Amino acid sequence: MTRDGFDLFIIGAGSGGVRAARMAGQRGLRVAVAEEGALGGTCVNVGCIPKKLYSFAAHYADSFEEAPGFGWSHETPSFDWSVLKANRAREISRLNGIYGELMTNAGVTILRGRARIVGVGAVEVNGVVHAAERIVVATGGWPVPPEVPGGELAISSNEIFDLAEFPKRLVVVGGGYIACEFASIFNGLGARVTQLYRGEQILRGFDREVRDFVAVEMGKHGVDVRVEASVLSLARTAGGAIRVALADGSELEADTVLYATGRAPNTAGLGLEALGVALAPNGAVVVDEGYRSSVPGIFAIGDVIDRVQLTPVALAEAMALVDSFFGQGGRRVDYMHIPTAVFTHPNIGTIGLSEQDARARFQKILVYRTDFKALRHTLSGSKERTLMKLVVEAASDKVVGLHMVGADAGETIQGFAVAMKAGATKAVFDATLGIHPTAAEEFVTMRNATVAS
Ligand code: FAD
Ligand code: NDP
Repeated sequence: MTRDGFDLFIIGAGSGGVRAARMAGQRGLRVAVAEEGALGGTCVNVGCIPKKLYSFAAHYADSFEEAPGFGWSHETPSFDWSVLKANRAREISRLNGIYGELMTNAGVTILRGRARIVGVGAVEVNGVVHAAERIVVATGGWPVPPEVPGGELAISSNEIFDLAEFPKRLVVVGGGYIACEFASIFNGLGARVTQLYRGEQILRGFDREVRDFVAVEMGKHGVDVRVEASVLSLARTAGGAIRVALADGSELEADTVLYATGRAPNTAGLGLEALGVALAPNGAVVVDEGYRSSVPGIFAIGDVIDRVQLTPVALAEAMALVDSFFGQGGRRVDYMHIPTAVFTHPNIGTIGLSEQDARARFQKILVYRTDFKALRHTLSGSKERTLMKLVVEAASDKVVGLHMVGADAGETIQGFAVAMKAGATKAVFDATLGIHPTAAEEFVTMRNATVAS
């Protein structure tokens, strides 16, 4: 360990950086974290947390609509965007403070400013060069909109939380997590939403049936999901709206256009190339299984390594890395069993392999699926349906994929992720008692395989 400077210098106080700093500080290392923006990074400031708060807000629209079926009557509710924004901002400031305290209490030195690596074991922030035995790059990612004429009129997810005016007409470009979530959220809050996706179905990479099912459900909720739809240009109209010209010759008018077309690793200007740190073509830091870059003493975790861009993955990578500094290299991140939710309305919850990927990987699989109207909707008047699906490897009887589209799917599948991590077989699912009456009990009562290959 160095006698002057720090044992560990972390660039970026986002999900991964904060967790690494806290863990290393608590265990006695002299740790510094540099952050040029707000503490907590993407997840806390412009990602998971404010997104979920807005998703809660949007779900009230369904509740108001469904309440009369249960005997409630109410005035026509109205929504005040400025109240939601202000309340969100207050909560996020509180979280920023908590993140600062957590690190300070762990003895971490927080340096506010942009950091740049200026040599092996040397990081410069605000003109001061700090010596560090190890450097961790945890700088996350940034939205990458494609270049189209008029593209400067569009916004990214970074700006959507604080739009001055609530958009009555929102066009969302993209078919991934962010596009689908914000299409659902703004639809729920009362915007007329058109989602434009260039391919043949949204959410590429997810189970095919899940993709088709959620596209239909989003449509029932009011999102106009258009596939095979590419944007040619954006232009400001005389009336101040944005005209969106599509490749098929059609046009749309919107108050706001959100581009959600992926995020690229934040490595520009960090000084990595000069030191010879190997980067992937998209700028991601190339690391080995121990999160070591090609230059000794420089490590990277989280979105900047572009493996799986999720907060729990960044946290797990941070913990595995810090353990390895203490000679406890045993903790490995299991990239196979990553549960994930897309907070569309209704949610998607998914763990493990899609039916398609399982089919490619195993000789024989069995698929158990059911779709139904949830009990709540027998009175609510909603036409929403729920999909549940298990993918089982026939030879081992192990459940290798679990998928749900339905209310609170994210909450429902977390426990099943534990079962799958423990290697649960379909027989174990069958031997598990259901909780009645819930939607989740369907996962332990599906008996007939609908597809076998
Ligand atoms: P970040 O959290 O991005 O932190 C990187 C930090 O580094 C930033 O604070 C940045 O300011 C700082 N930084 C960058 N360069 C420098 C520099 N040179 N000097 C100093 N500081 C620097 N994941 C989920 O699991 N669930 C969700 O529901 C979810 N929702 C999301 C919604 C949106 C809209 C977005 C955009 C992302 C969402 N994610 C979600 C993904 C999640 O936010 C990221 O995977 C996670 O934040 C990655 O953590 P990180 O530490 O790698 O990077
Ligand atoms: P994604 O990679 O998930 O999706 C990008 C979308 O944009 C895809 O539909 C892609 O299409 C499309 N696209 C890419 N390039 C273009 C282009 N040039 N023109 C038109 N469309 C294009 O990225 P997101 O930005 O949605 O989110 C980034 C990551 O953040 C996610 O992958 C996820 O890991 C994380 N996240 C997690 C959330 C959660 O856990 N709930 C919520 C939000 C984000 P195609 O499929 O054809 O390539």
